[in-house]
Amino acid sequence: MERNVFTEEQEMFRDAYRKFLIKEVEPSRESWRDAGIVPREMFEKMGEQGFLLTWADEKYGGLGISDFRYQQIMMEEDATYGDAGFFHTLHSRLVGPYLTRGDDEAQRMRFIPGAVSGKCILAVAMTEPDVGSDLAGIKSHAQDKGDYWLLNGSKTYISNGINADLVIVAAKSNPDNPRQIGLFLVERGMDGFERGRNLKKMGLKAQDTAELFFNDVKIPKENVLGDAHKGFHYLMHGLAEERLISATGSLACAQRAFDLTRDFVIERKAFGQRIADFQNTRFKLAELRTELDMCQVFIDKCVEVHNQGKLSSEMASKAKLYATELEGRVTDEGVQLHGGAGYMDEYEISRLYTNARISRIYAGSSEIMKEIVARSVLDD
Ligand SMILES: Cc1cc2nc3c(=O)[nH]c(=O)nc-3n(C[C@H](O)[C@H](O)[C@H](O)COP(=O)(O)OP(=O)(O)OC[C@H]3O[C@@H](n4cnc5c(N)ncnc54)[C@H](O)[C@@H]3O)c2cc1C
Repeated sequence: MERNVFTEEQEMFRDAYRKFLIKEVEPSRESWRDAGIVPREMFEKMGEQGFLLTWADEKYGGLGISDFRYQQIMMEEDATYGDAGFFHTLHSRLVGPYLTRGDDEAQRMRFIPGAVSGKCILAVAMTEPDVGSDLAGIKSHAQDKGDYWLLNGSKTYISNGINADLVIVAAKSNPDNPRQIGLFLVERGMDGFERGRNLKKMGLKAQDTAELFFNDVKIPKENVLGDAHKGFHYLMHGLAEERLISATGSLACAQRAFDLTRDFVIERKAFGQRIADFQNTRFKLAELRTELDMCQVFIDKCVEVHNQGKLSSEMASKAKLYATELEGRVTDEGVQLHGGAGYMDEYEISRLYTNARISRIYAGSSEIMKEIVARSVLDD
C-alpha cells in the first residue's frame, strides 16, 4: 500500500537510521540475546548519531525535532534491522519526556543532556510485585523529612533496569491521602538503591528487565519531579503518546512478520505445490494484508493528529488495542504457516511471536484499553 505520509527529508532520515542499524545493531543481536542485555555503549552510539531524544531542545544537545513521524520511522526500521530488546524508544520517548514535566530548568540541565548523549540511561519504575494495572495500589512510599525525601519500596519488571543510570520511581507521597503519588529521580549509586535479578523472559531476550529495591534512599529535594503530590498528573500527561508508541511498534513488527511469512510460503512446497498456492494460505494472507493496511491507515492518521497535539486518550487506546491484537494474530498465523520451522529459534518469526506476547499486556493491557474505549462509548 502506498503511504505518502513521509517527506523527502524524513526518507533520508530513514535511510541514515537503517544504515546505522545494519552496521551497529544487526551484527550484535545474537550476542545481546545470549547476554540478556544490550551493552551500554549502544546508547552512546545512538546518542552520537543524534538518534536519542530527538525531540529535546538544542540547548540540551537534542535536535529539537518533536515531529512523531521520525519516531515512527525509527520503529519501522527497528522491526526489521534492529533488536526488539533494545529499548532506546523507552529511554527517548517514554521516559525522557518526564524530565520536562517538572518545569525545573536546573533539573532538566542536569539530566537531559546526559540522556541525549546516551551516557545517562533512563528507566521508569511503577510496577510492583503486587500491583501493575492499578497504580493507585502501589506500596512504595516516600516520606518528607524536611531536607530530603526518604524512599522505601520495591519494583519489578523494570525495562532497562540493569543499565539505568536514572530511574523515575513512582511512590506514595502523602500518608493521609493514598491517591497522591510523587515521581522521584533515583540515580545510580545512591545509598539504599539496589538492583535484583535481570529477569528471564519468554521474549525480548536482549532486554534487561529487572527488579529494583529502595531501602531508606535519601532523595534530595532537587531530585523530585515537579510537585511531589502530582505524580498521577505527570504520568497521565504522556499516556496518549505512550500508547501510540506501542501501537506503532506493534504494527511495524506485524508488517515484518507478514513479509517473512509471505516469502516463506512462496519458497516452501508440500504435496507438489507451493504453500502459497493452498487456498487456506491465500485467504489467510489476504485477511491479514487487509487488516494490516487498515491498521496502517489508522496509525498514520493518529500520528498526524498527534503532531497537531490533538490525539485523544480514546483514539490512542483504540490504536494500541487494535495494533497489538493484530500483531498477536499475524505472528501466530505466521508461525502456523511456517510449520515446524516457525517454532525454531533460528527463524525470525518465532522471535516475533514471543516478543509480541507482551504487547497486549504492558503500556496498558488490552482489557484496560477496552475499558477506556468503552467509557468513551457509554459514559460520555
Ligand atoms: C517485558 C516487560 C517490561 C515491562 N516494563 C515496565 C517498566 O519499564 N516499568 C514499569 O513500571 N512496568 C513495566 N512492566 C510492567 C507492566 O507494565 C505490567 O506487567 C502491566 O501493567 C500489567 O500489570 P500486572 O502485571 O500487575 O498485571 P495485573 O494488573 O495484575 O493484571 C492481570 C490481568 O488482569 C487484567 N486486569 C487488570 N485490571 C483490570 C480491569 N480493571 N478490568 C479488566 N481486566 C483487568 C489485566 O488486563 C491482566 O489481564 C513491564 C512488564 C514486562 C513483562
